[in-house]
Amino acid sequence: MAKCSGCGKTLGFFESKKMFSDGSWICAPCFKKLKAKEMEKELEKRGREILKGRAGYWGGNLLHPPNSLGDAGNFTLTEKQFIFEKIGRDSWKLEIPISKIILKKISYATQEDLAYKQRTTALAYFAGYGPITSYSRKFTCIVIPYKDERGVEQAPAFSFTDQKTLEAVGKFFYEVMATKIKK
Ligand SMILES: [Zn+2]
Repeated sequence: MAKCSGCGKTLGFFESKKMFSDGSWICAPCFKKLKAKEMEKELEKRGREILKGRAGYWGGNLLHPPNSLGDAGNFTLTEKQFIFEKIGRDSWKLEIPISKIILKKISYATQEDLAYKQRTTALAYFAGYGPITSYSRKFTCIVIPYKDERGVEQAPAFSFTDQKTLEAVGKFFYEVMATKIKK
C-alpha cells in the first residue's frame, strides 16, 4: 500500500492522491498544503506586485542581442524584482532583482522608432514621393543597469506602451533610491 510522504497516512486505492517523479505518494490535503507553501515561497521571492503590462526590450543585455525593431514582451514590477518575458517564437525571460540594480545609473534614453520610419518611408515611396528619411518618431526608454548572477554589469533598456507606465516605473526606482539615502 502507498503511504503519504507528507502525513504518513496509508492511501486507499480510490483515494485522491498524487505520485511524485521519485515514486513517492502524497494525499490530496498534503498536496494542497505543499502547493500553498510553494506559492508562498514564490511570493516571498517576488514580493508584492506593483505594476505589470506590455514592454519592449531594446538591448543592453549581452546574452540577448536586440532586434532592430525591439523585442515585445510582458513586464512585471514587484517590490523585489523587475521581470521581462519576451513573447513569440524565441522567448526568453530576464529576472532582475531590485537589490542588484545600480540605482544611481538608472537613466532615460531616447530611441528612434524604426518601425514607424520603415512604414512611413514605404508609404511615401508608394505615394510617389520617393524614400524620405526625415519621417522619424522618437520614444523614451528606461535603462536599468544591474549586476547579473555572475557579477557582470548589464544595462537593458525597456519601453512601455504609454508615458504613464514609464513615469510609474521611474517613480518606483526614485522611491527605492530615496529610501536608501541616509539623511
Ligand atoms: Zn498526507
